[in-house]
Amino acid sequence: MSSPSDAKSNASSELRYKRVVLKLSGESLADAGGRGLSSQEMGDIARQIKLAHESGCQIAIVIGGGNILRGASFSGSNALVQEATAHYMGMLATVINSLAMQDSLETLGLSTRVMSAVPMEKIAETFIRRRALRHLNKGRIVILAAGIGNPFVTTDTAAAQRALELDADVVLKATRVDGVYSDDPEKNPHAVLYETLTYDQVTEKKLRVMDATAIALCQEHGKPIVVFNFKRDGTIVKAVSGENVGTCISAEASPQ
Ligand code: UDP
Repeated sequence: MSSPSDAKSNASSELRYKRVVLKLSGESLADAGGRGLSSQEMGDIARQIKLAHESGCQIAIVIGGGNILRGASFSGSNALVQEATAHYMGMLATVINSLAMQDSLETLGLSTRVMSAVPMEKIAETFIRRRALRHLNKGRIVILAAGIGNPFVTTDTAAAQRALELDADVVLKATRVDGVYSDDPEKNPHAVLYETLTYDQVTEKKLRVMDATAIALCQEHGKPIVVFNFKRDGTIVKAVSGENVGTCISAEASPQ
């Protein structure tokens, strides 16, 4: 009898990645100001995901909630809302975004499931690893909401954690810049874009790629991370297809 993850081999054998976890920030669903939800942005992303899915790759999406709320912004001791509470509020923000993305994808005819790490049965299925694998094997796009269901972490950690659990080949982190730079490219015109990096280089150079827990999880289990600019038309498709886009972080980097 085959295990749920064996069916990953049902995906086309020509694909570099048979299963991916795509991490979208909440801000990617918003207008330039980074708040709320933009139909235009969600539609553009949904169209790219549809094209990527047509390649035959299985896609699980982890969506952040930063366009609505991040728990860490309530960290001051004077805050009216306790930080732990605010993290739960942030998790709920990811559920709002996940539902919006679900409808955006289904409008295009895709079959999806939202699975929440925090049970809320009237809104979404609860995340159960084997059930998520079954959805993926049936060609459904699985949208993973509420992070990992625990406070004090971000959805970057959720993306790494779910990539490990679901045996994804890579974590694809969609951003508004072309990859990982030596410095903030919007402030420093001499900032260099890295094509490849090792996990150790990310940590040593204190590069702001994903949070430290996410990097540590990926490093420990050798899970590559690709950071790319989803605003460039077609890059989600290219990233899912395994074309060289942005910055690839793995155990081995080429000389820079
Ligand atoms: N969050 C959490 N646990 C999780 C995932 C998220 O507590 O497993 C909270 C945390 O406060 C986080 C917020 O939800 O800041 C929104 O997620 P994130 O900041 O990752 O969103 P993004 O920056 O990707 O839009």
